[in-house]
Amino acid sequence: VQADDEAGRTWSVLLDLGNGALGPLQRHVDPAALDAVALSHLHADHVADMPVLGVLLRYRPGPRRVDRLDVWGPAGTLERLAHLAGKDPAADTSPTFAVHVWDPEAPVVVGPMVLTPMPVLHSVPAFGVRVVGPSEDDPGRRVTLVYTGDTDAGPDLDALAAGADLLLCEASNVDGRDDAHRGVHLSGRRAGEAGARAGAGRLVVTHVPPWNDPADAAAAAREAYAGPVDVAAPAATHLL
Ligand SMILES: [Zn+2]
Ligand SMILES: [Zn+2]
Repeated sequence: VQADDEAGRTWSVLLDLGNGALGPLQRHVDPAALDAVALSHLHADHVADMPVLGVLLRYRPGPRRVDRLDVWGPAGTLERLAHLAGKDPAADTSPTFAVHVWDPEAPVVVGPMVLTPMPVLHSVPAFGVRVVGPSEDDPGRRVTLVYTGDTDAGPDLDALAAGADLLLCEASNVDGRDDAHRGVHLSGRRAGEAGARAGAGRLVVTHVPPWNDPADAAAAAREAYAGPVDVAAPAATHLL
């Protein structure tokens, strides 16, 4: 997520860095120019490339924007990242990351953006993130991107998503096939219902596993949500 401040400097926040994400990320932003990383939760598909990012930041020659990149996540993030890197978590010697624990009462300011973590329903402690920042077209107007991370439906999701201009919403499951696994993930239909209840301006479904057809997830969302629905795709850009 990127936004410019009044001086024209572009600020960049990375929302999760799962397996395989660091490579394509570099087509869009120099990892050394990131201002913060916001981790929704510690499942591997959301954090697995973090130690690889750490290697890049530590060893790639050239300037870095900050000495230690701010990383926000749930309790245990420091320890999990150390384990993934094969390091002793008792020794906080990371030369690359400054790890902080999310506090829903303490929104995080990153340049012109404010990130508010909100707990959501998943199989492990997990947060969605509300990102509020200046509109691309009208910087005096504040717009809201909501990223659900992994979650099923419920009051936590509704509180997170309320009023989003863009709801980036997971849609992992297929109704009928995955009904035994409630409380962990949304389906396309439940993503659509969440968007409708939130009054979201647009819905982008993501986290569709490769064994599902993303078009089915989008179609299921459209049955419940009347606004525009897109499937998240590499290199897709959404201006708010
Ligand atoms: Zn998960
Ligand atoms: Zn996941």
